[in-house]
Amino acid sequence: MPVHVSIHDVSPAWATEVEAALALCHEAGVRPALLVVPDFHGRAPLLQDARFCARLRELQDGGHEVYLHGYFHESQARYDASRGEGRLAWLFAQRVVSGGEAEMSDVSEEEGRARLERGERVLADAGLRVDGYVAPAWSMPGWLLPLLGERGYRFTEDHLRVYDPKARRARASVVLNWASRSPGRVLSTVAWCRVAGYARGGVPARIAIHPGDMGYRLLRYEVERRLAWARGDVVARGAELLG
Ligand SMILES: [Zn+2]
Repeated sequence: MPVHVSIHDVSPAWATEVEAALALCHEAGVRPALLVVPDFHGRAPLLQDARFCARLRELQDGGHEVYLHGYFHESQARYDASRGEGRLAWLFAQRVVSGGEAEMSDVSEEEGRARLERGERVLADAGLRVDGYVAPAWSMPGWLLPLLGERGYRFTEDHLRVYDPKARRARASVVLNWASRSPGRVLSTVAWCRVAGYARGGVPARIAIHPGDMGYRLLRYEVERRLAWARGDVVARGAELLG
């Protein structure tokens, strides 16, 4: 079964860590997709860093895909009862699952559409081709998939599946990632990745590297091990996971 590798939260805010993750991938002969955030947490506007933009263009020319990854990568972090979601469900989604990063689940469809269009413009202005879209924290509200299809996207993903929004196709896929955001969960996610690795015989797998992972010796080692495990089956384009 094919394996796809990506680096999340690609932003000038994480430039050093992104290079560290790229080095691990390149050593393993892998060209991961780059999930680019136009303005990470509202404090790292992509277009203000010409060198970083040039580096991304160079990587895309070298065969890396570039996916739009939210706009701010941050939720409003306050509960709005008018959205019809229970407070506990909201707290769970925002605080437990995503750590306050589930941007698209926290905005109206209208605002979500505006952020998508604005994000596409930022990447175009940076000289980048948009090869796909991944919602921050893989959190996709119901309106997002049809919107991506309407805009011609051929690849997106959430926790459980990969999609071709335009062709309205989906396929189950296991995702391996580590929770470096919460140090208490690092060990449990290492254990999960080792277990989930066995699912690969049945479904395509994704290896998701986060910049924060690079701050842990254990996780750098785990990423290296996973890349070695995937050797020979890695595909450069996410869409290839759909078969
Ligand atoms: Zn992210």
